[in-house]
Amino acid sequence: MSHYQAPVRDIQFVIHELLNSETHYQSLSNCEQPGQELIDDILVNGAKFAEQVVAPLNQSGDEEGCRFEGGDVQTPAGFKQAFAQYAEAGWLGLSLPEQYGGQNLPGSCAMMLGEMTGSANHAWSMYGGLSQAPVTCLLTAGSEEQKNTYLPHLISGRWGGTMCLTEAHCGSDVGLIRTKAKSNDDGSYSISGTKIFISGGEHDLTENIIHAVLARVEGAPSGTKGISLFIVPKFHSDENGNLTERNAVHCGSIEKKMGLKGSATCVMNFDGATGYLVGEENRGLEVMFKIMNSARIGTALQGVSMGENSFQGALNYARERTQMRALTGSANPDAEADPIIEHPDVRRMLLTQKALTEGSRALIYWLAQLVDQSKYGNEENAREADDLLSLLTPIAKAFCTEVGVEVTNLGIQVLGGHGYIRDNGQEQIARDARIATLYEGTTGIQALDLLGRKVMGSQGTLLRNFTKRIHKFCEAAGNNEEIKPFIEPLQALNKQWGELTMAIGSKAMSDPNEVGAASVDYAMFSGYVALAYMWAQMAQLAQQKIAEGAQATEFYQAKLATAEFYFQRLLPRAGSHAKAAEASGKAMMALSQDAFAF
Ligand SMILES: Cc1cc2nc3c(=O)[nH]c(=O)nc-3n(C[C@H](O)[C@H](O)[C@H](O)COP(=O)(O)OP(=O)(O)OC[C@H]3O[C@@H](n4cnc5c(N)ncnc54)[C@H](O)[C@@H]3O)c2cc1C
Repeated sequence: MSHYQAPVRDIQFVIHELLNSETHYQSLSNCEQPGQELIDDILVNGAKFAEQVVAPLNQSGDEEGCRFEGGDVQTPAGFKQAFAQYAEAGWLGLSLPEQYGGQNLPGSCAMMLGEMTGSANHAWSMYGGLSQAPVTCLLTAGSEEQKNTYLPHLISGRWGGTMCLTEAHCGSDVGLIRTKAKSNDDGSYSISGTKIFISGGEHDLTENIIHAVLARVEGAPSGTKGISLFIVPKFHSDENGNLTERNAVHCGSIEKKMGLKGSATCVMNFDGATGYLVGEENRGLEVMFKIMNSARIGTALQGVSMGENSFQGALNYARERTQMRALTGSANPDAEADPIIEHPDVRRMLLTQKALTEGSRALIYWLAQLVDQSKYGNEENAREADDLLSLLTPIAKAFCTEVGVEVTNLGIQVLGGHGYIRDNGQEQIARDARIATLYEGTTGIQALDLLGRKVMGSQGTLLRNFTKRIHKFCEAAGNNEEIKPFIEPLQALNKQWGELTMAIGSKAMSDPNEVGAASVDYAMFSGYVALAYMWAQMAQLAQQKIAEGAQATEFYQAKLATAEFYFQRLLPRAGSHAKAAEASGKAMMALSQDAFAF
């Protein structure tokens, strides 16, 4: 039995109270403007679906895994029916254009569904998530004919989709792509090459699969400047969407892997498959980056999903499991021992899980609103949102997935030896969570993007935009004595962020390795400060609500206590990351390759 209960109250707090959804949606144009009632309706029904339909398939999906036979992939029992139910409810198209069958709601409305289904069953949620790849490609750069051919079926869930970048020799460095595209007389292309690690490359959930494939047209320049984007359907179709002949793209095998066993990770062979160019030749990466930015926020969200599920399991256990006595004497004198939640160290673990997960949730849901502004806001709001997203997307992807791994490991620790036992569920969550720091750009690649491209590349402008915003918040909040314990450390770290950047920048002038050496510590420092900004706002709001005598103050008191824990026990980690990032990178580069083995 799954323990997962969607955190409806906390999501409502973030969306409605912290991020003021009503005002936010009213500021958008050219999309539906949902009121609180509609959001709550999606939330409550999504919660029911996640808890009752997909969560029960999580453990069985992990045990059963995907099966590969004769080129076909069979997903675990129940996955197909759950996917059909999800599609039937119209959730695949929640934030997609109405003209192709979507509901035209802003993207942030789909965020909560992503979180809840991801918590309930990460592997299952991959199939719907990946279908967004060809959808975004086509909406960004597809022709009208391409949009009409593919989008209605992808959005209705009749067809699935993939994103095909990775090749055996080419992972982080997409410029190394070798898959070839040869122009045919009829305007189509023949695609040849092998892609690896393709999520949902083959499966039995949908009748057709539409691959978004990066390949190099014959004679194209080497590196990233010669990469084009193609749509390659598994089956061709006629003008009514009926399937016709099979295309020359086949699954060669599926990977045996650490976690996410219900999600098929496929080797895909393109043997002269017919593909259709999306956008212009050699400009495929520009389109793919659009997908990758939203996919990175989606992957950051997986850190929250996994963290929430792990926290809930750990909390239930800690309240029931009795071992030894509380340090202050018996909390439960009638029983032979006290519940482990009475022990400070167990509380340390639970509160670390809670503070990192709820803080990351607030950060990511804010980013989702920025994506809405970037798409549907007025010119000024859109520009401001784009700048914030440029800086904050790699921070969220790196930080929220790294702390997601920490949180899910703590979930095992709270259960002691029982956490290591499969039946108790925690080890699966930790295995499933591990992938999020790897795909959609590893933590190392996000950190380089942040420090090298976004911060240094903009001469500090993108960072200054954000630190100014934090500064303004601190100035406005500073007179309130009660929230000073949150504002003062945030103010200090905000100032340190600029100084740290200058220090690394000046070292990098004489040695470019200094940027690479500092980058991951810099990204983690940035993540802790960004979360402190979210926690300070949540603390301020909670205090306000308590002062106003709001109903159910326990919720706000718990928020406040968790904010205090974050500032006292977790934020000091930012200092260590800053120290490490500031230190010379010379020791890192001193050893020869051979000397590593001594
Ligand atoms: C389960 C699963 C699902 C996946 N799904 C998909 C999918 O649907 N579609 C798809 O196209 N791909 C997919 N991938 C591939 C995934 O995106 C890649 O594995 C990832 O991008 C990293 O590439 P790589 O594994 O080749 O590692 P590499 O690029 O070889 O990196 C190895 C290590 O070197 C580091 N590194 C590399 N270059 C640098 C540098 N310049 N500076 C600092 N450090 C560096 C990395 O951070 C990493 O730690 C999936 C992978 C898995 C395991």
